[in-house]
Amino acid sequence: MTGSHLDSQPKGGKYDGAYGVVGGFEALEAIERAGIETRRPIELVAWTNEEGGRYQPGVMGSGVFVGDMNFEAQLDILDRDGVRLGDALAETLASTPGIARRSFGFPIASYVEAHIEQGPRLENENKTIGVVTGIQGMCWYIVEISGDEAHAGTAPLRSRRDAAKAAVSMVSALEELTADETDTVRFTVGRFEVGPGSPNTVPGSALFSIDLRHPEARVLEKLMAEIEPVCRANARGCDVSVRRPMNTPPIVFNSTMVDVVRRQAGALGIPAMDMPSGAGHDAGYVSRVAPTAMIFVPCAKGLSHNEAESATPSDLAAGAATLAACLVELADKG
Ligand SMILES: [Zn+2]
Repeated sequence: MTGSHLDSQPKGGKYDGAYGVVGGFEALEAIERAGIETRRPIELVAWTNEEGGRYQPGVMGSGVFVGDMNFEAQLDILDRDGVRLGDALAETLASTPGIARRSFGFPIASYVEAHIEQGPRLENENKTIGVVTGIQGMCWYIVEISGDEAHAGTAPLRSRRDAAKAAVSMVSALEELTADETDTVRFTVGRFEVGPGSPNTVPGSALFSIDLRHPEARVLEKLMAEIEPVCRANARGCDVSVRRPMNTPPIVFNSTMVDVVRRQAGALGIPAMDMPSGAGHDAGYVSRVAPTAMIFVPCAKGLSHNEAESATPSDLAAGAATLAACLVELADKG
């Protein structure tokens, strides 16, 4: 099986997802035109709602397919305008008559998904194919700090419990903790709030988020074990609570499958490099039920989730050619 998704972000580009579906069709047509017969059928999939832009959560089609999400429950989810997913889905199906219905969870011998990289590594390294070794792990934390509100003019610094300064100390210490010469750790504080938010009151409360990612479970777990102790050590007399609302461990793709992509790109003479995926994909869910691999192609300046998303025809063709070669090998094998 090959494919990807066709939905996008509110201001997304035209390659994220769509390339894996259109590229999959190209590969199937090329295989048919070449008169190649395979022992196994090759199926193309367009997973529903990977991005989660209109209906949350995302990665829904593959999540339902592998049995991690309940189908009926997803149908009742509403978009911002109150449209039920079940109704939107029925409309989509009605507009594409003649497509045979498939059951969820049918066995898949192997799955290969082509996708734009959505990052700058291939472009920087002057490579055309990213041989994706897995999907990096990701966890989220919410750190809440409470101190004491006080008068900014009269309260001596020594006796203050300043939640904002504690939060700043924590973020600095966490930045030191996650410092990485190889630039592989991804540490982001995307939300930072201070209360009550008045210039002449010492802040009594603060909250910040942490998004932490790494492709290796060992490294990620080591860092995760330090998050709360580092926050507590930098609390400056304030109370701290640390929650972890999300923890998705890293995924390592089947090494035989990764080798197929590496070998076929090599056989076609296309410059390739191994790399983990920084973003999540349907392939992550599918890898739970079938040997899985991904093929990345470069996108201009690594830009994605942006209308300016772009990729060159020759790179896209190289990715589709690699995909076709992988599909032929995988569908033929006994
Ligand atoms: Zn995508």
